[in-house]
Formats: sequence, C-alpha cells, structure tokens
Amino acid sequence: MGTHSAADRSLFETLTCTRCGATHDHTTVQTVCQEPGCGRPLIARYALDELPRPAPGHDGTGAGPLWRFPELMPLTPGTDPVTLGEGGTPLLRARRLAAAAGLEELWLKDESGNPTGSFKARGLALAAIKAKELGAATIALPTAGNAGGAAAAYAARAGMGCAVVMPSDTPRVFKDEVVAFGGTLIEHEGLIDDCGKIVAERVAAEGWYDVSTLKEPYRVEGKKTMGIEIAEQLGWSLPDVVIYPTGGGTGLVGMWKAWAELEAVGWLGPARPRMFAVQASGCAPVVDAFVGGAERCERVEQAQTIAAGLRVPKPFADEWILAVLRKSGGGAVAVTDEQIAAGVERLARTEGIYAAPEVGATWAAVESLFERGDLAADERIVIVVTGSAYKYL
Ligand SMILES: *Cc1c(COP(=O)(O)O)cnc(C)c1O
Repeated sequence: MGTHSAADRSLFETLTCTRCGATHDHTTVQTVCQEPGCGRPLIARYALDELPRPAPGHDGTGAGPLWRFPELMPLTPGTDPVTLGEGGTPLLRARRLAAAAGLEELWLKDESGNPTGSFKARGLALAAIKAKELGAATIALPTAGNAGGAAAAYAARAGMGCAVVMPSDTPRVFKDEVVAFGGTLIEHEGLIDDCGKIVAERVAAEGWYDVSTLKEPYRVEGKKTMGIEIAEQLGWSLPDVVIYPTGGGTGLVGMWKAWAELEAVGWLGPARPRMFAVQASGCAPVVDAFVGGAERCERVEQAQTIAAGLRVPKPFADEWILAVLRKSGGGAVAVTDEQIAAGVERLARTEGIYAAPEVGATWAAVESLFERGDLAADERIVIVVTGSAYKYL
C-alpha cells in the first residue's frame, strides 16, 4: 500500500440511516439500516469541518479523477483505489439544441465517455473499492441495463468475481457485456426487483457482497461526484434546473447529497436547482407517486420501455427520491417510447451526441416541461446525459 494515497485525505467518519439517523460501523460490511422496522438506505458522513475553505480555484473544466476531492470520498487510508479512469466528464453548452427549443442556457453533463459507456461506472467503481477493502470475493447485483457491465468490469479490475441477475428480456448487449468481463450472468423471468430478490436469497449461501442500488451505501458516493463536478464546472454555483432520467434514483439523490456537503463547507450557498425526474410512460412509479402526492411508490406491474435503465418498477429509495424532488421545488414527468426515440435522434443530429434512450427521454421531458410552463426560457438547465448509445448498435 502506498504511503501517500489519495485515500489518506478522506474525511469519511461513519454511516448513518437516511430515515432514522442510526449510526452503523463503516469498517464492516453494511447493507441497509439494521434498526428494527427501518431497513432504509445508509449514507456516508464526513468530518466536514476539516475540509479547507474557501473553495479551491476552478478552471471550469472540473477535469480530474473521480476522487478529485478525496476528502469527500469514503476511502480508507492506505487504500489503492480501483479505477478505470471514470469521472471528470465534460459539461457541454448545447447552443443549437437550446435555440431549437427557444431556451437560452442549456448544458449537457456528458457521462457517455465513462468506462463501459455510462455513469454507472462512477458508482460501481466505489462499490468495487469498498467490496475489496472489506474482503469480499464476489460482488452481486440485479440490473436491467448498464450496471451489470460496469460491475463486471470493475470486479475484473479489482480481481473479484461478479454475479449479475438480469431480467431475461433485457437487451442482449447488456448480457454479452457481463460475460465479456468474466461475470456470471443469471437470467430470470421477471423485473429488476424480482432479480433483486434472487440476489438477496443467495447472498448468504454464495458469500456475495450485495451491491444492489442503494442497498449498500457506496455507489451513491460515486454518483455524488457528478454533483461536485457540475458545481465546480459552473464556478461553484448550481444551475436553476437539473433534468435526470430516473430509474433507481442514485444519481439524483447523490447529487443532492453532494451539494449539502459543499454547502456545509461553504463552497456553495443555499440555492438549489429544481430537480426533475424523467421516466418512461411504461414504467413511471416516481411520476405517479409525485403527482398523487404519495411518499412512496406503487410497484408498476407490467413495466415496459426501450429505456432499460428506467425499467425499475419500484425504486428502493422511493421516499428519498420523492423528498428531494419536493424539497427542490421540481417535479416528475413521463414520456413515451416514441418521444424517447425522437429525443435520441434530436440530440445526435443537433449536438453530435449519440446518447442512450434514457437521455432521449430527458430531451422529450424538457420540451414538455417548457410547454407546460415548468421551465422558463432564461433558466440555466442541465441535462444529465447518463450513457452512450453505442452499445445498442
Ligand atoms: C441506470 C441508468 C439510469 C438510471 O439511473 P438511476 O441512478 O438508477 O436512477 C439512467 N440512464 C442510464 C443510461 C442508466 O444506465
């Protein structure tokens, strides 16, 4: 172990429950809150008082490795991070797309250049690091899309095994990718949450480390770095609006967490973007709950959409996602698969970015939010371009 790894600067202190606040030991394997009747997601807490202030100078690029700010990463001193060069992605001004829709200031946080082609790399990098640190031999997760390939790639890089349980009707490319990286693919008739049950059932017997979305506390720390990068790229300020294609919601709650931490250390003020979750009309549990004023989502029984990453019938962190949308003054919007396909084409032809269907959904959402008066023409809007379309070719 290196004597001066970036991990030595980590201010990681403990894990606490997002609902009841109970503290959990971060030096052992943790999943969800263990308090009786709770079972909600855990999050990492940092000794923020020790972070230098004011904010460091910025050059507007935000370029750098995932742990550009290792203070805010849940690393253990001496750890050698497992990395494939994830993070540090560009924030691109989209003038042509903005003009076409009558908007003034539109930005694309382009995650498509990440290893394995999506922002899942950020989360799975952290999951792999922590799994390795905690002595796991094999990580396991359910997925309907990009998370499987990312998990398998980082497991390979870390010298660990990877078991991926996928709905059998998942597009073939996502299955091939897992196998290519040496992962074990288990297909199952059902949706991602049914696959999650299989992981949960087999964890103990197989000795797996479960890295299901928000059922372990570290993937969200990786996704959080998008929020740090956006803030830095905008000169330590935030946009008025963020548009996010929401499946399990890790990136949405992760960015929100990042900004709270940056405000606590004085790098950001109290202003926050309005957060809009975008889903597909064939699977829109968050939209339904938001519109219905509910605190939790109802499971969508026949979830169907071409945007595989949005095919999550009931996100595990539904309460947390809905709380962020409401606190931010944002909302949730559903779009059809036809709108999604048109959005992909528009983005490719107008800005030269060939993005995943999930991203096509965000563009369709911007148009409909603008039409219904939820966005103003002069607002600064950021779309999270979560992944690339190249896998689909
Ligand atoms: C997984 C995924 C999403 C959804 O992300 P969550 O953090 O689960 O909400 C969106 N877009 C793409 C390309 C994905 O792979």
